[in-house]
Amino acid sequence: MTTPVSQGSVSQGSVSLTGKDLHLSFGANKVLRGVNVNVDAGKTTTVIGPSGSGKSTLLRVLNRLHEPDQGDVLIDGRSVLKDNPDKLRQRIGMVFQHFNLFPHKTVADNVALGPQKLLGLSKDAARALALEQLETVGLSAKADSRPGNLSGGQQQRVAIARALAMKPEIMFFDEATSALDPELVKGVLALMADLAQTGMSMIVVTHEMGFARSVSDTVLFMDHGQVIETGPPAALFDSPETERLQQFLSQVL
Ligand code: ADP
Ligand code: MG
Repeated sequence: MTTPVSQGSVSQGSVSLTGKDLHLSFGANKVLRGVNVNVDAGKTTTVIGPSGSGKSTLLRVLNRLHEPDQGDVLIDGRSVLKDNPDKLRQRIGMVFQHFNLFPHKTVADNVALGPQKLLGLSKDAARALALEQLETVGLSAKADSRPGNLSGGQQQRVAIARALAMKPEIMFFDEATSALDPELVKGVLALMADLAQTGMSMIVVTHEMGFARSVSDTVLFMDHGQVIETGPPAALFDSPETERLQQFLSQVL
């Protein structure tokens, strides 16, 4: 049995986040049907489930790229549904499957751009911060390269550095390793595990069951817009209660 590595520390500024009874439909398609999700400050909640179950939509409702039809989103216990959505999104670092780095900018400029434009840092201060973040993801040596000259795994680590440079209070990962060649997945997962260990609050959508089991404090299994089971990883993986989760695990493990 692996012990969750994120036990204990809470990094400075990490927050708790709760989604309460979230509903969202696109036309007749009920994509979220009363989803409850929680991540405590400094902890990691992993969301697993089949394709189309509403995982990405859940993240987009939590950061208000979509407004829920019903339900609430709370940070440190306070509803943020009335807050300015742009400001809210600055507090949440997002890492997607497709990293979308600017190809014609250097790696350092990609990381420095947000802090300069959105946090108002000077060019020099933003570059210093970018170099610092690149160091934490092990890519200082690539600061002045173009993203196209990096491997997919390195580009994803730059995307993580870019998100961290904005000093987020919580990080969302949406299938961050799904587009990577298999040999590059490990390095990115290791970086995510390190981040969890520093006490960053994280919500991670992933198909990497090894990561879900070893790094998460809480796992949430979604199907058809509902949370079917949730709990500590050992409980879900070793003794799934529902047939749907048993079936899902038999397909992915
Ligand atoms: P997952 O990330 O679990 O694969 P998604 O959240 O991407 O699932 O999608 C869940 C459902 O919501 C799917 O049926 C998808 O077609 C639908 N959906 C997602 N985004 C939109 C959108 N912007 N407009 C209409 N339907 C959408
Ligand atoms: Mg998705």
